[in-house]
Amino acid sequence: MKKIAKKSAGQVRVRFAPSPTGPLHVGGSRTALFNYLFAQKNGGRFVLRIEDTDKERSLQKWTEEIIEQLKWLGIEWNEGPDIGGKFGPYKQTQRTDIYKKYLEKLLGENKAYYCFCTEEDLEAKRQDQMSRGVAPKYDGKCARLSKETVEKNLAEKKSSVIRFRIENKKIKFNDLIRGDVEFDARLLGDVVIAKDLDSPLYHFAVVVDDFEMEISHVIRGEEHLPNTPRQILIQKALGFYQPIYAHLPLMLNTDRSKLSKRQGDVALADYHNSGYLPEALVNFMVLLGWNPGTEKEIFSLSELVKEFSIEKVQKAGAVFNIDRLDFLNGFYIREKNIEKLTELCKPYLREAGLLVAGQVTENQLEKIVEVSKTRMKKLSDIVELSDFFFADKLSLDKDLLKWSTMQDTEIKEALLLCDKILSEIKIWDIKNIEAGLTAGAGEFNKQKGYPEKNKGYLLWPLRVALSGKKFSPSPFEIADILGKEKTIKRIEQAIKLL
Ligand code: GLU
Repeated sequence: MKKIAKKSAGQVRVRFAPSPTGPLHVGGSRTALFNYLFAQKNGGRFVLRIEDTDKERSLQKWTEEIIEQLKWLGIEWNEGPDIGGKFGPYKQTQRTDIYKKYLEKLLGENKAYYCFCTEEDLEAKRQDQMSRGVAPKYDGKCARLSKETVEKNLAEKKSSVIRFRIENKKIKFNDLIRGDVEFDARLLGDVVIAKDLDSPLYHFAVVVDDFEMEISHVIRGEEHLPNTPRQILIQKALGFYQPIYAHLPLMLNTDRSKLSKRQGDVALADYHNSGYLPEALVNFMVLLGWNPGTEKEIFSLSELVKEFSIEKVQKAGAVFNIDRLDFLNGFYIREKNIEKLTELCKPYLREAGLLVAGQVTENQLEKIVEVSKTRMKKLSDIVELSDFFFADKLSLDKDLLKWSTMQDTEIKEALLLCDKILSEIKIWDIKNIEAGLTAGAGEFNKQKGYPEKNKGYLLWPLRVALSGKKFSPSPFEIADILGKEKTIKRIEQAIKLL
């Protein structure tokens, strides 16, 4: 057994300890990020520990998913189940022997005991306590069983669990974020720490591992705050040092209710798949609780490593504002160079069936992404913003072709003029297209008596004929990308409608 240390060795060692019972959520990712940043900032080590004591609900696929998503975010750990380390193994189900020794120690010192109460007994007691308006807690029935009774029951293989004796006293600890926290342990009741010697439960395994892995700081979500007093009592009973705690604020919906799945606390993979960039998510998540104390809003991971400080994490709940995430994502999308952004868009176009081999060249594709990117909030938006470029024939809404008070015959005239101007262009590039059409728009207005500066009379019907949409890039950009032949064809298709 490890020598009982009074306090951790001095080096900053933190951990992210997810239970692999489902996909990694934004809340969990934020916890991982804050731990990572804290370790980086303090020259410490960051441990990934998989807490899979719940054998029914834990799945290997979730461990893999958690690892994959964390890597995608750019969060790296120094020790973990995939890379090993001095304090491994890093999966709780592989550490049974370690827990067993400590369980035996607690039982031997009478700080824990076997409890033979059945589920039905416990439920009946709970009901009774509640009907009397008392907060339910274990009444300690098995806490006083004689040694002989316990041995007899165990020999008879009566089903049992192991309970830890909670001392009736006030627990005080200092939380780096919440300040002094005080809790009355009398409210707790003796807690079940294992199903048997080979099956420890969360409260026990977490305490043993934090000690064994020499964790200096426990940084985790506020939902774990009520667990801390129990865990401190188990630490004390085992003679362990107490790590420093920091509980991150809850995440709230915009109406300040606790974050619900519906409104945002969905799997990180959902954001990943719909085209949020890791840079945006990291930037967004760090601002869920951390306040730089300046107006600055854009932070890269490497900047955060320098600027992050746990002292600037707020106590109050952090509002999950999807508009801010969209804003940040749009920013990082526009930051990307066009080759990289095009690569990132391809899977979405492919999935929508738009990227058929040979249909558009790489150069055309880059131009499509370039003209679409200002309106992209997430990568998947590329499909809706650019689908018309890939279509063979547009399904045109005739009414949309109309600009101001124009009649069908006038729209037709406008499109015929566009057809003529564009057909005469020898070198098909955006400069020539724009010059030809701009001059044409001026002449058209003069000839028709339209307001001189309003280019919409010529260019609106053209833009709609080329895109089929109310909003799109300019007709010059579209024509340039489509090429002469396709452009002319679309204009002629629109003319036929009139
Ligand atoms: N395994 C726990 C969870 O996934 C976290 C334990 C902790 O951070 O102390 O919620």
